Amino acid sequence: MTSAAQIPAVLLSAARRAGRIAVLTGAGMSAESGVPTFRDAQTGWWARFDPAELATPQAWQRDPDLVWGWYLNRIRGVRAAQPNAGHRALARWGRRAPVDVVTQNVDDLHERAGSRVLAHLHGALTAFRCDSCATPFDGPVPGLPPADGPAEVTDRMPPPRCAHCPGQIRPGVVWFGEALPPGAFDDAADAVRAADLVLVVGTSGLVFPASTLPDLAQAAGVPVVEINPEQTDLSRRAEASWRATAAVALPALVDALYGSSEDDRLEPAD
Ligand code: NAD
Ligand code: ZN
Repeated sequence: MTSAAQIPAVLLSAARRAGRIAVLTGAGMSAESGVPTFRDAQTGWWARFDPAELATPQAWQRDPDLVWGWYLNRIRGVRAAQPNAGHRALARWGRRAPVDVVTQNVDDLHERAGSRVLAHLHGALTAFRCDSCATPFDGPVPGLPPADGPAEVTDRMPPPRCAHCPGQIRPGVVWFGEALPPGAFDDAADAVRAADLVLVVGTSGLVFPASTLPDLAQAAGVPVVEINPEQTDLSRRAEASWRATAAVALPALVDALYGSSEDDRLEPAD
């Protein structure tokens, strides 16, 4: 059990004083929900592929069936997962104070925990669209189970075809080398500059331009605190770096701010 005594003093005092908080999250935020980060080994059939090479426009050009099968597998995994105590603590904090959540994650676990997400910097897995005319797609997706279905490993799978042009349907994520969704980065930059505290949770800080947000905050005089069980590039620059996991640290912090009432945790989101 993490007690208030283990919370970095800078963090606790900044969080108590903060009028606005911005929280930047990465794949580590969802790790304790069982959604693997890119650095965790893939399992089963997928173990032989490098995610950093599948999540590219080049891979899609070369072998769309392979990439689509991998995304179906990831969507199955996310659907079978539940928000963890860290996602729930952020949602609880957001009901008590202005908390802007900016995520690099393409899952929907923040939303399912009850947070409103200000910016999905890297898009969302299931925001399907045509790879050619960009028309959003909400037709049937073979191979996608219902929300409560099993998280099975699939292999390659042909993507659906667009109803409006000869294009194919692609996941709504930002691949390495692609531009961010319009406005997402600006919204995130505004949020970190307007905050009184920026928390950076579960990101290795290696993916540009999301990796520059802590610097924008610090340049505007906003304290930045990291929560990550491992050291990152940010660890040395941050006002504090808390070596703890998201599902341990965030509930401890929010309990220290507001007390640990079970009733409060069950309050529905606005
Ligand atoms: P990353 O995989 O590069 O780094 C993950 C970070 O999380 C590491 O620094 C690791 O030490 C930390 N971490 C691991 N377990 C943790 C825990 N329990 N609590 C807190 N931190 C923990 O992830 P990234 O920086 O987000 O960048 C990789 C890219 O991959 C992003 O573009 C992201 O969109 C994508 N991605 C998303 C998901 C998802 O949506 N859940 C999953 C995998 C990758
Ligand atoms: Zn099309």
